[in-house]
Amino acid sequence: MKVDRRHSLSIKLLKLVLLWALLAGMALSLAQILFDLRLEREAIRQDATQILAMFRDPASQAIFSLDKEMATQVIEGLFANPAVHFAAIGHPGEEPLASRERPLSTPPYRVLTDLLFGVEQSFSTPLRGREPYNEYYGELQLTLETAPYGQTFLRYSLIILASGLLRALAMAGALYLIYHVLLTRPLARIIEHTASINPDLPGKMMIPMLPGQERNELGLWITKVNALLEAIERNRDQRHEAEASLRHMARHDQLTGLPNRGLLLEQLVRVLADAKRRQRGVAVLCCGLDDFKEINDKFGYQAGDGILVAVAERLQSHSARLVSVARLGGDQFALIVADVDEPYDVAELAQQLLDELALPFPVGGHQVTTGATIGITLFPDDGLDAGKLLQKAEQTMMLAKARSRNRYQFYIASVDSEMRERRQLAASLRNALLRNEFHLVYQPQISLTDHRVLGVEALLRWHHPERGLIPPDLFIPLAEQSGAIIPIGEWVLDQACRQLRQWQDAGRTQLRMSVNLSTVQLHHPDLTEMVTQVLQRYDLPRDSLELEVTETGLMEDIHAAARHLHKLKSIGVYIALDDFGTGYSSLSYLRRLPLDKIKIDKSFTGDLLTDPDDRTIVRVIIQLGHNLGMQVIAEGVELAEQQAYLSQEGCDAGQGYFYSPPLTAAALTGWIDNYERQHHQA
Ligand code: C2E
Ligand code: CA
Ligand code: CA
Repeated sequence: MKVDRRHSLSIKLLKLVLLWALLAGMALSLAQILFDLRLEREAIRQDATQILAMFRDPASQAIFSLDKEMATQVIEGLFANPAVHFAAIGHPGEEPLASRERPLSTPPYRVLTDLLFGVEQSFSTPLRGREPYNEYYGELQLTLETAPYGQTFLRYSLIILASGLLRALAMAGALYLIYHVLLTRPLARIIEHTASINPDLPGKMMIPMLPGQERNELGLWITKVNALLEAIERNRDQRHEAEASLRHMARHDQLTGLPNRGLLLEQLVRVLADAKRRQRGVAVLCCGLDDFKEINDKFGYQAGDGILVAVAERLQSHSARLVSVARLGGDQFALIVADVDEPYDVAELAQQLLDELALPFPVGGHQVTTGATIGITLFPDDGLDAGKLLQKAEQTMMLAKARSRNRYQFYIASVDSEMRERRQLAASLRNALLRNEFHLVYQPQISLTDHRVLGVEALLRWHHPERGLIPPDLFIPLAEQSGAIIPIGEWVLDQACRQLRQWQDAGRTQLRMSVNLSTVQLHHPDLTEMVTQVLQRYDLPRDSLELEVTETGLMEDIHAAARHLHKLKSIGVYIALDDFGTGYSSLSYLRRLPLDKIKIDKSFTGDLLTDPDDRTIVRVIIQLGHNLGMQVIAEGVELAEQQAYLSQEGCDAGQGYFYSPPLTAAALTGWIDNYERQHHQA
């Protein structure tokens, strides 16, 4: 912020002072000049008187003796004075005895001096005889022209005027400078600092003290303003604090400090909007304590409060997984889980919470145990609206409580039973390995060029004691979630390699074993070590093992995957990219991964004959694989026509029901014998 120079105080002052100094200077000079004018007029008269006095005697003498020559001499003497214009000696009314007139001088300032003093001034003195007779003889007349006197007067007047003006100018300038330095400039700096003060943080930026001004009015002003700014800031802070604490109080539960229902709903609205945009799931969990009323009755309200605080703490220990933990009131809490991909994860979390809340609470020397019940709603399946989701979660919790306690329940019965089932499966999966419930089946992979059996893919089967065969698509994700896939995967590799050893011993040395590798396994630090050990255990050549990794799995963390694949590749095993075409591989990455083979996903093979797009995709994948120096195998080959198209497009191998379903080792041995026999005959 800058003041326009024209409006600056110092300029204004300059103008005023200049005006007044000029006026005063002029007035004073004029007064002086007028005074001088009077003096000068007086001086002319005095001069004339003096001259007349000086020449009176000789003039008297001359007129007394009527000596014309002498009179002329006296007149000549008078004319020595340059101001004399006319002089005469004679009796008035008669021809003068002697007289002379000189023309008037014509200097340029004449006009002025004529105005001030008149063109000329005439004087005369009577010429008389000696005392005591004093007879009157005539007059000595003298006319002085004023110009010569006026010249000096004018010069002085000019000097007086000029010096008056100069004085006025000098004073105005000095005043302006003093004023500018002392006031305007410091003020301008103060204004500059004041302008840069952030009105939202008035106390954060003080006006700096100007050096040298500490003790004068400016310094005092700065100090006062700074104090004022600080006071404003302090006031504001206090008000903000008060507001914040009011706001906090209005939106939080006093006892536990958790958000209350109002705040939770606000948060939920925001989370849902975000989830909708990103197409993610959200879960709302409503958690009620099972025996809270009894505890209050038995141990008193204080103990009850203590338990509520402890419950809040236990719930909050999961805050990394939760968007919010709130207390709805009484013994009810609510939790929001965002980014829910699988309701199953929520079920796991709910069970974990239930387990923790079932642990005893130490209250006043007692160990008090209470269970909890959790109702769960899912966005978007159970509702799109925050209020509805919360309400349904509460209803679900109440219903569950009425039926039995210490459990979680999903709002939708089918989801609920599915989750329950999967949790049971996950629980029994933990023991499946020990109970020997797993076995492997093998599916052959056939060369499309010479129809030889190139290898087999090992596929895991779980025979559940009550529920029979469980499909791997169901239990592998469970095993991955719980980490059970690590020992299970190791078991699979061991079994597959043991089988391969048997086949090799039986003379099938060309057979290669393909084993599926879960992404969890791929990222496990001991994988390479484990694979090496198993290969050594059965004394197998390293290139007789092929590991299949899925494209979608790799893409989750492509950098880590690339690192681990290179490490794996370094021991000499083959690596195949499973389910190719489903995972949006970036081509540039595909090139950098150490892959030996890509496996066209069975969805493409399946639609090959009906969907022209899939035909194109398959053709392109085959070309791409070959361009990158990889083998290409198609899985899910079920029909001769599919095989024909694939082999026409140059696909290297096929796998699928068209050749054989996955079979037990014994059955597959028989199948291979049979196949080779037919093939040899053909
Ligand atoms: P995948 O690796 O893509 O395995 C191929 C699946 O396609 C197998 O299902 C197989 O039975 C099935 N299949 C074979 N030929 C045909 C066909 O002609 N048509 C159709 N429609 N399907 C065919 P399965 O055995 O149920 O395995 C399912 C998935 O489970 C596997 O997909 C694999 O991702 C996973 N899996 C199986 N065993 C293991 C294992 O030991 N470890 C790991 N990590 N995953 C495994
Ligand atoms: Ca596979
Ligand atoms: Ca596959």
